Amino acid sequence: MLSVSEGLVRNLARASVLGGALAPALIYALVGFSGLQQLVTDDARVQARRAGSAVAANPEVWRYATDRLVDQIEEVRHVATHTHLIDTDGKLLAQVGEECTGICVDSGAPLMDFGKIVGEVRVSADLVPVLARSAGIGAMGLAIGFLLIRLLDRHVLLPLERIRVTNVELAFYDPLTRLPNRRLLMDRLGHALVGSRRSRVFGALMMLDLDNFKALNDTQGHDAGDQLLIEVAKRISASVRQEDTVSRMGGDEFVVMLEGMGTVEATAAKQVEAIAEKIHRALNQPYAISAKEKSHHSTPSIGVTIFQGQDISIDVLLKQADVALYQAKGAGRNTIRFFNPQMQAAIDSRSTMEAALRNGLKQGEMQLYYQPQTGRDGELTGAEALLRWIPDGKTPVSPAEFIPLAEDTGLIVPIGLWVMQTACAQLSAWAKDPRTNQLQIAINVSARQFRQPDFVQQVYATLRDTAANPASLKLELTESVVLENVEKVIQRMQQIRELGVTFSLDDFGTGFSSLSYLKRLPLDQVKIDKSFVDEVTSDRNDAAIVRAIIAMSQALGMQVIAEGVETEAQLDFLKNCGCANFQGYHFGRPTPIKEWERFL
Ligand code: C2E
Ligand code: CA
Ligand code: CA
Repeated sequence: MLSVSEGLVRNLARASVLGGALAPALIYALVGFSGLQQLVTDDARVQARRAGSAVAANPEVWRYATDRLVDQIEEVRHVATHTHLIDTDGKLLAQVGEECTGICVDSGAPLMDFGKIVGEVRVSADLVPVLARSAGIGAMGLAIGFLLIRLLDRHVLLPLERIRVTNVELAFYDPLTRLPNRRLLMDRLGHALVGSRRSRVFGALMMLDLDNFKALNDTQGHDAGDQLLIEVAKRISASVRQEDTVSRMGGDEFVVMLEGMGTVEATAAKQVEAIAEKIHRALNQPYAISAKEKSHHSTPSIGVTIFQGQDISIDVLLKQADVALYQAKGAGRNTIRFFNPQMQAAIDSRSTMEAALRNGLKQGEMQLYYQPQTGRDGELTGAEALLRWIPDGKTPVSPAEFIPLAEDTGLIVPIGLWVMQTACAQLSAWAKDPRTNQLQIAINVSARQFRQPDFVQQVYATLRDTAANPASLKLELTESVVLENVEKVIQRMQQIRELGVTFSLDDFGTGFSSLSYLKRLPLDQVKIDKSFVDEVTSDRNDAAIVRAIIAMSQALGMQVIAEGVETEAQLDFLKNCGCANFQGYHFGRPTPIKEWERFL
């Protein structure tokens, strides 16, 4: 080895292509690598330091050096095929997939760190083994080294002290989970798209988000949240192949990129689906997130899109996965949805829809339907107000379609206010009729609306302006609303209750139900979710859950109402369990107020 390097150095020194200060620098680099530091003069050392990130522009030097050096390190070539290089100014020198080769010469701790990131940058294979090897040289006590890389057609020589490994980690990795971050993902995705365009091989992008993660964070603290994220990261990574990219985009959002899914779309889709299901199963297993909570349950929603390098931008692809994720959430969470052309139409129409919704609110296209609520003996006790948007005056658009959009855009705030004002106006109209003056109206309050700083004020002003009886107004909140920032929510609920207004907890049983919180919330009523009522006569688990909810609510002094009651059998079961309030098609569908005569 000594003789090879010695010869190399001499050749290099002799080579007329080497000019100026760069020659000793390069020589020093090469010599450093081969462990022949005794050949380096002090002068070379100084000049090498000065050379800094100067550019050695001659391809021949490059070829000459790499041919020989890489020969010597053949045996460690398998170490890895990816890496990233960044200098101390944060400038990216070489990134994933970029044509870049390099020779690294260094020693000591920083090098060991370098060893750690080896395996994360796709530079041509040359760089990596050198990095790995140079770690060994470090053990021999070399104090300084250089990295010579070829970046596109430039040759860059850098002293290693200008390359901070921590920067690489910060810039490209999520510190909590150690997964690639958004920036690195974007990078790899860009290359994957180019590769796929050339090869016609399908790839896929999967966007995942944990259902009710916020509630966990708020109720159990951020450490528990972090623990969960770390475990989720591990499980996703264990569910995919080494060459796939699992990244964390921030918060509880993860993105997985799959490549090499074959050239047949149907097969690719099947394969991707199988992987998505595998991840889904893995994430559905209980988590031991703390000593206290050994069996925490968390579920993901997953949106998937596949690509074949069509002329599609990274942004559009991410958007597609996001839309699919959105659909998965809309479909009740804990599920997988594939992006499809109908969804594309939905995105295209999203902004159109937003404008239409905004306009519709102004033009009076919103309407409230009222669905009867009844007591034990079938007597009418009130109604739930359910929003309808009727853009063309004929076909109502389901709130399931536009409420999420309204939430996203903030339109839910004026819409929600309109709902409250309309319902309260109805209450004061009902107050004048002895048949209806005892009836309550329940309205749905969405998270964003409830969190408005002036929400209490809005309730107060609406009651005042409409002269509605506060005791007849019931606000339905979902668990996701009440478990976010519990203390504040409790305080706010109490302020509203002081006005005389009551609270019902909607969709109970579907979310992050926690007895200890339920006990503390100032609730008047718990609403058993339709999904339990559906199967109550056929599914023993659902029956048990319903029984437990009823018993628990009674013990806590809360009223129980069952929603989605469609059959006599369901009604009988619920009554036998002690439930005394009902809502569902069995009693009546949501109906415009002018058709309400028949319920009265
Ligand atoms: P939700 O609050 O859980 O409302 C109950 C939904 O179940 C309503 O759907 C209702 O029509 C439907 N439903 C009631 N009984 C039965 C039954 O026996 N069988 C079946 N299959 N369905 C039944 P809708 O009206 O489409 O509303 C969907 C969701 O939209 C509501 O779910 C609520 O979350 C939201 N929403 C509706 N109006 C408003 C509103 O004014 N503000 C806000 N923020 N959300 C609203
Ligand atoms: Ca409701
Ligand atoms: Ca509900």
